[in-house]
Amino acid sequence: MRTIPHWINGKPVETGVEQLPVLDPATDTPIAQVWMADSVLVEAVVDAAEAAAESWAETSMSKRAHVLFRFRDLLLANRSELAALITSEHGKTLDDATGEISRAVESVELACGGPALAHGSTSLQSGPNIDTRSMMHPLGVCVGITPFNFPAMMGLMMVSVALAAGNTFVWKPSEQDPGTAVRIAELLQEAGLPDGVLNVVHGQQDTVTQLLDDPRTQAASFVGSSDVAHSIYKRAAQSGMRCQAFGGAKNHMVVMPDADLDTVADQLASSAFGAAGQRCMAISVAVVVGDVYDDLLARLVPRAHAVKMNAGVVPETEVGPVVSRRAQQRIQELVRVGIADGATSPVDRSTEEVPGYENGYFVGPTILAGLPTTSEAYQQEIFGPVLVLLNVDTLDEAIGLIRSHRYGNGASIFTNNGAAANQFTNQATAGMVGINVAIPVPVATYAVQGWKNSAYGDTGLNNASWSFYTRPKYITSRWETSAGMDFGFRPN
Ligand code: NAD
Repeated sequence: MRTIPHWINGKPVETGVEQLPVLDPATDTPIAQVWMADSVLVEAVVDAAEAAAESWAETSMSKRAHVLFRFRDLLLANRSELAALITSEHGKTLDDATGEISRAVESVELACGGPALAHGSTSLQSGPNIDTRSMMHPLGVCVGITPFNFPAMMGLMMVSVALAAGNTFVWKPSEQDPGTAVRIAELLQEAGLPDGVLNVVHGQQDTVTQLLDDPRTQAASFVGSSDVAHSIYKRAAQSGMRCQAFGGAKNHMVVMPDADLDTVADQLASSAFGAAGQRCMAISVAVVVGDVYDDLLARLVPRAHAVKMNAGVVPETEVGPVVSRRAQQRIQELVRVGIADGATSPVDRSTEEVPGYENGYFVGPTILAGLPTTSEAYQQEIFGPVLVLLNVDTLDEAIGLIRSHRYGNGASIFTNNGAAANQFTNQATAGMVGINVAIPVPVATYAVQGWKNSAYGDTGLNNASWSFYTRPKYITSRWETSAGMDFGFRPN
């Protein structure tokens, strides 16, 4: 069976405390095994990143960008192979995995522009014969901890900018689908990245804690569930490093009575059920304003029934399995909780099996209508293909639901009314807002950002992260001979 190694100092390394199986979510069979690091190995990976830091920081920005340009081409050339790898470990469809690589390429393309994007500024005559300028220095060793749901894209949102800005990096991917990170490290090496600049280490809580506590690591980027995000943010603060930690979501879509209901139903079904609901920006709650609730439900039900669920490798599959047996059981339990708390389920495919893949971790599209907002199924992130459908009288009430939820990752409105869209944009408490867009992830030239319990720290990913991955230095200079001593503190 294939063994997935760590990647340290430009080489695969196979050692650690134990090996965990990597399971095919469509069949529940082991397809690889992955080494979990021990403390000696974690020390070694930081050694490697630390040793490479100085010379990478001194490599010109344009040479760093050349590596990223070559890497971008390699990603595109190897897109099918990478997509197949993602599908085998994660379960998502090949089409969806290919789309993930395309989004990851956007982050690399952004970082290729590092020489234009990561420069400081100069003010001439900022004081009498004084010039002031700022410079952006790399930090040194940065750490990234990523979730299972985008095994390529989330890591590359971090790695691309961090490397372009002159840092070295230790990437700890999810142990559930760890193969993609190592393949990406190989491709970066092929693109000319020097040894030690990007390292991949596999592990769990102990590994992450050791990385955060190591005084040589300067910054931690995390994406995953909110409780873990919060604990990492606290641990990083304790160890004195900077941290950006992105957490879970409960993304609401508000449907105004004037919206085109067929468009809404198409977009809502794609967003809520696509990738088996395992996108952090998937809509999981639709709030219908006014009296179009029954009309929308009537359009959603046949769409939810029609979704083709099967193994991700089977052509024309629209929804694959969820990532693990644990995830499958947790989602099914939350559906049961929602129904016990008073929701109706006009579509419940949550326990549906797929012929030929009876052992797979499948959860089919499910709608929980009229779920009380006190239910755990509303309060918690379900992270599966389960859509909660609610009805309120006014836009104010709909926005009120978003404002009172603990999560604030994404929120969306479907309407043709500019005033409603404006009010929503201003008042929705979420970091990413969509107007007639059901998965409003901004392009890489903006940022991925969350509010409330969806993000800890103040800088987003992608273009917002140049300041996170650099530290400024301000230089005040004057070139003239002394005009004598002066003990005052003169105004500029
Ligand atoms: P997770 O929190 O279980 O794991 C994320 C990473 O943290 C993994 O690498 C894992 O090994 C590590 N980890 C797990 N427990 C840890 C602990 N106690 N201490 C230190 N490290 C730990 O998340 P997941 O199930 O892999 O991913 C799904 C979650 O990620 C969902 O909540 C989803 O909303 C969120 N997500 C958020 C965004 C965003 O932009 N906000 C993007 C993608 C995913």
